[in-house]
Amino acid sequence: MGILDRFRLDGRVAIVTGGSKGLGEAMALGLAEAGANVTITSRHLDECEAVATSISAATGRDVLPLQADVTSPDEVGGMAQETLDRFGRIDILVNNAGVNVRTSTLELSLDDWQRVIDINLTGPLLCAQAVLPTMLEQKHGRIINMSSILGAVGLASRSPYTATKGGLLNMTRAWGLEYAGTGVTVNAVCPGPFDTPMNRPLTQNPEAYQAFLSKIPMGRWGDTVELASVIVFLASDASSFMTGSALFVDGGWTAQ
Ligand code: NAD
Repeated sequence: MGILDRFRLDGRVAIVTGGSKGLGEAMALGLAEAGANVTITSRHLDECEAVATSISAATGRDVLPLQADVTSPDEVGGMAQETLDRFGRIDILVNNAGVNVRTSTLELSLDDWQRVIDINLTGPLLCAQAVLPTMLEQKHGRIINMSSILGAVGLASRSPYTATKGGLLNMTRAWGLEYAGTGVTVNAVCPGPFDTPMNRPLTQNPEAYQAFLSKIPMGRWGDTVELASVIVFLASDASSFMTGSALFVDGGWTAQ
């Protein structure tokens, strides 16, 4: 096998939660370009269907759109089962679905706190529990958790987001140890700022946009393809000796 073949994903099957837009869409496209068939899920089937059609047309891969809320054990179980029914295996889970609430700690409602915990922290747990039996039986699997630079460093007015992303980063280490040697690896990605729907409140506010820009040593926001290529690496045989680890894709933010 040549070195570049280790990055190929032909015959592999991936699930990308929250794959209907933003980073999830870009990562699903990247995985399909590298050869994988992909299931993309979100709470809105129509959005998933449109993205699935366009990725399939661009790559020639089979892309399955599914409605699944990551906070629902039943829907997440259905996501794993329907993927197995369609493709016969599950090699890659990208725990991408996530939300942010930007508010001061004193004004944060308990409902918002709980919603972010449910989606950003409990969601990845439920999805991992749904796919792990298949991955362990296959003796092959890649779980990739979308943490954030805010899993490793703080930012004011981001209590639930920083708590969940920090939790997800450390849970990645625990899972990496738990499944080390089984053929299943678990790693995290910690992106810096990318222009996605989640970040519209920042990108559409010149002051906030500049404030973020000033913290990025490379002097620009990320392009989603720059994350997709890292995900392909973590999803592939090229990263086979990595587990419980994290890659920071942040233009230098956390190096400071
Ligand atoms: P986005 O808001 O553009 O997309 C989020 C996706 O998650 C959407 O498809 C949405 O439908 C889905 N989703 C939300 N709640 C869900 C639920 N309960 N069940 C299923 N799907 C759900 O966000 P994004 O910017 O693309 O971010 C994707 C991930 O990357 C998130 O976990 C985010 O925290 C993380 N991240 C993003 C950035 C960035 O700069 N954009 C930086 C660091 C980390």
